[in-house]
Amino acid sequence: MQTHFDYILTGGGCAGLSLAYHLSKSQLADKKVLIIDKTPKNTNDRTWCFWTDQPTLFNSIVYREWKAVEFFFDTYHAVYPLQKLRYQTIRGIDFYKEVHTQLKQFPNFQFHYDSVVAVIETDQQATVQTTTQTFTADFVFDSRLSPATYSKAPHLILQHFKGYVIQTQQPYFDTSKITMFDFRQPQQGEVRFVYTLPYSPTEALVEFTIFGKQVFANETDYLTILNDYIQNTLKIKQFQILEEEFGVIPMTDFNFQAKAGNRIKRMGIAGGQSKPSTGYTFLNIQRDSAATVHALATTRQPFYKQSFDKHFKLYDAMLLDIMQRNGGSISQIFADLFKNNPIENVLYFLDNQTHFSIDLQIMWSVPPFPFLKSLAKIASRK
Ligand SMILES: Cc1cc2nc3c(=O)[nH]c(=O)nc-3n(C[C@H](O)[C@H](O)[C@H](O)COP(=O)(O)OP(=O)(O)OC[C@H]3O[C@@H](n4cnc5c(N)ncnc54)[C@H](O)[C@@H]3O)c2cc1C
Repeated sequence: MQTHFDYILTGGGCAGLSLAYHLSKSQLADKKVLIIDKTPKNTNDRTWCFWTDQPTLFNSIVYREWKAVEFFFDTYHAVYPLQKLRYQTIRGIDFYKEVHTQLKQFPNFQFHYDSVVAVIETDQQATVQTTTQTFTADFVFDSRLSPATYSKAPHLILQHFKGYVIQTQQPYFDTSKITMFDFRQPQQGEVRFVYTLPYSPTEALVEFTIFGKQVFANETDYLTILNDYIQNTLKIKQFQILEEEFGVIPMTDFNFQAKAGNRIKRMGIAGGQSKPSTGYTFLNIQRDSAATVHALATTRQPFYKQSFDKHFKLYDAMLLDIMQRNGGSISQIFADLFKNNPIENVLYFLDNQTHFSIDLQIMWSVPPFPFLKSLAKIASRK
């Protein structure tokens, strides 16, 4: 196997494979690329959801798409049709298969399965050391994530979730809408909700999600609440579990830096592509992959000027601060947010896609006190 490449991608998960896919569909498809991961991706280990008004490069593998979202809060319940936006989901296994099928056409894209132990650079090249081999490249794109890097961040919340894909005997689910947030359960000082993605009248992903300081000690703590929700809130007494999903996403205002050197760029969550206050990452990874390929093609450098999003960072930090101080209050804040604003304004806002005038309207629609308290705290740190 050759040892020098144009690009090495350390980590072949969502960010690594997305960048490889974008490269293979660009004028840089002839570059020599090595993707290194510990193990091949061949299970349905996650489901990516996001809302968008434009097709992504992965449009052909969108598993389901919905045009309405439903919310259950203690104080009100609403279903909102979407006009421009679509809520979409992509299954991990379809994504992995699609990328592998595409890359098979390019012998210059290679995979290597081993653990990366170090990535360093000199003026001439970047070097990747695995447990058994050394590779070099013009640029390395690194999506390995070490919790130690962000553990001392001003705010750190863990989004942890456990879900089932269930099947019912009788038609139960309304496939015209998803339940984005169902807050009808004790919040226990955290943010706790269930969301439901109906795949068919008899099949749905039902996921119990917590934004809190720690993951639960036992799996049964998730399962008790999840089963109770399915049986007593959804009132589904008999169901079969087809698949299970568990995940943890760090939600933090740690200042992730994409530029780790002149020849090393961080990607994915490690590159700051996760929205701190929601954990949504998939669409940001697609935007980053597209912008990186464009930068490489036009400047021969992978770095590009990120859009000016300082104000969104501040909103994220304020929301994280409220979650950290009093997570139980978030359900009411979200209720006000969704009740008092056009749904698409809120969704664009949560995706950092709004202008200041909409941000202001959104700010005015929620009780100011918790935000002012957080703002004062954040400002006093600077
Ligand atoms: C279960 C789950 C569901 C999610 N759902 C959504 C969703 O609905 N919407 C959304 O926007 N986001 C979602 N996310 C968040 C985010 O989109 C995913 O975590 C996404 O996979 C992040 O991409 P990444 O490339 O940063 O990390 P990963 O996809 O985790 O890829 C990192 C890769 O690096 C490899 N690696 C790490 N260390 C080494 C090493 N030393 N040597 C070699 N390889 C290494 C890992 O094996 C892994 O394959 C979800 C996350 C999880 C866990």
